[in-house]
Amino acid sequence: MSTTESTTEQRELSIDTIRFSAGYDEKKHNYAVSPPIYQTTSFDFGGVERANRLTSFKEVGNIYSRTGNPTVGILEEKLRILEGGSGAVACASGMSAISLSILNVAEGGGRILTTPYLYGGTKDSFKKVFPKFGIHFDYAKNILNPEKLGEEIKEDTKAIYLETISNPNGFLLDVDAISAVAHEHGIPVIIDNTVATPYIYKPLEHGADVVVYSATKGLNGQANGLAGIIIEGGTFDYNTDKFAHFREKYYTLRDRDTEEERSFLDVFPDAPFTFRTRFNYVSFFGASLSPYNAYMTLLGIETLTERLGKESKNALKIAQFLETHQGVEWVRYSGLESSPYYDLAKRDYPNGVGSLISFGFRGTNDQIETFIDALEIFHYHVNLGDTRSLITNSPKNTHGELTAEEKEIADIPLNLIRLSIGLENVDDLISDLNQAFVKALN
Ligand SMILES: *Cc1c(COP(=O)(O)O)cnc(C)c1O
Repeated sequence: MSTTESTTEQRELSIDTIRFSAGYDEKKHNYAVSPPIYQTTSFDFGGVERANRLTSFKEVGNIYSRTGNPTVGILEEKLRILEGGSGAVACASGMSAISLSILNVAEGGGRILTTPYLYGGTKDSFKKVFPKFGIHFDYAKNILNPEKLGEEIKEDTKAIYLETISNPNGFLLDVDAISAVAHEHGIPVIIDNTVATPYIYKPLEHGADVVVYSATKGLNGQANGLAGIIIEGGTFDYNTDKFAHFREKYYTLRDRDTEEERSFLDVFPDAPFTFRTRFNYVSFFGASLSPYNAYMTLLGIETLTERLGKESKNALKIAQFLETHQGVEWVRYSGLESSPYYDLAKRDYPNGVGSLISFGFRGTNDQIETFIDALEIFHYHVNLGDTRSLITNSPKNTHGELTAEEKEIADIPLNLIRLSIGLENVDDLISDLNQAFVKALN
C-alpha cells in the first residue's frame, strides 16, 4: 500500500539509482536483498486492538491478499515513486488496469474521449463491453490540435483516455497541451504508458492524472508474467458534481469513534482514485495481482534502464536501415528525422523513443508471409518490450479484431509490420531482416 514518505528525497535521484531502492526497505524484510514473495492469502490481525486500527484505516496494513499483499505492495510503491504519483494499485493484467480505471472514472455511465490509436484489446472492449455498462467512447478528431479539443468534450464526458507511445504505430501526443484542455473542462487524463515505461516517458510530469500499464510488456521485459498497475498523480479534484460517486459515503469507511460514514475523498484525500479502484473494483472484481507475478515484474524493473536504453538505440538503427530498403514503403518511428513526431520526441523523450517500430511492406500478402517465415532471429508473436526481438503483422493478429473501416481510421494498413526490438546484436538483427527480404522479394 502506498504512503507518501520520502518521495521528494527519492525523486531527485536518477531512475537508474532509485529503481532498486524505491518502495523496498530491506530492513522491513529480514534484510533480504531480493524482495520476498509473500505467498499467503491472509495476514493475522495480531490482536483485537490492531484489528480495530486496520479495519478503521487508522493503520495501513495487509489483511487479505485480494486487497493488498506485501510483495505486490513493493511493486505498487516502486512504480508510484518512479512515476512521481500519490498512489498506486496493481492488478492481474494490463486489461484489468484499463477496464477498472474506466469503470472507476465513469461509474454509472458517461462518455470517454479517446483516439483510434489504441491497443487492439482496449479498442475491442470499448466497442463491445463498456457501452453495455452505459460507458460510451468518442474518437477525437482534434487530438493533434488540442486547442480545438475542448469542442469534443461533452456534458457527460468523464475523462480523456490516450496511449503514448501508441501501439502499433508509435504515434506521440502532446500530453501537456491535451491535459491543459481536459483540466479546463474539469476532467482527468488517463494514459496507457505501456510501450514507453517510466524510463522513456512519465505522463504525470506532463499533466496527466492517471497512468495505466500492462506491466506484462516492457516493465517485465522477459515475458514471464501478466501484470497491470494504475498510478495516480494526486492533483486532480474529484470533489465535483461530475464525480459525485467519489463523494458517496460508505458504512465500511466509517469513523469508528463517531460512527459517521465517510467517502474515499474523506479517508484518502491524496489518492482517492487508486484507493477507490482498489477497494471497489480490484477487490470486488477479484482482479488482484499474484505475489509471484509481482515478483517477476520487480525483477524486470531492476534492469529497465539498460533494456529500454539499448532497445531504443537498436531500434533507431533498424528504423534507419528500413528507411533505405527498397522492400519498405514507409517507416513509423518517432526517433527518425523524417517522422512528423520527431520534434515532440526531441522535446519530451530525452532517453529515446523505445523499441516499437512499424513499417509498410512493399509487396504482396504472400511475400509478407514468406518474409515472416524466413526470419531466423526475430520471434513471431504478439508480446511487446521483450528482451528478444519480435515481429508481428498487426492487422492480422494484435489488431485483428478491428474491421476494415476501423483499421483505416486507426491507420493500420494491411501491409503494416510491427517490430519490437530486443537486446540482440543490432547488426545480426539487420542481417536477419535483410536475408528475409531477399527470400521474400526475389
Ligand atoms: C498488451 C497491452 C495491453 C494489455 O495488457 P495485458 O497485460 O495483456 O492485459 C494494454 N495496452 C497496451 C499498449 C498493450 O501493449
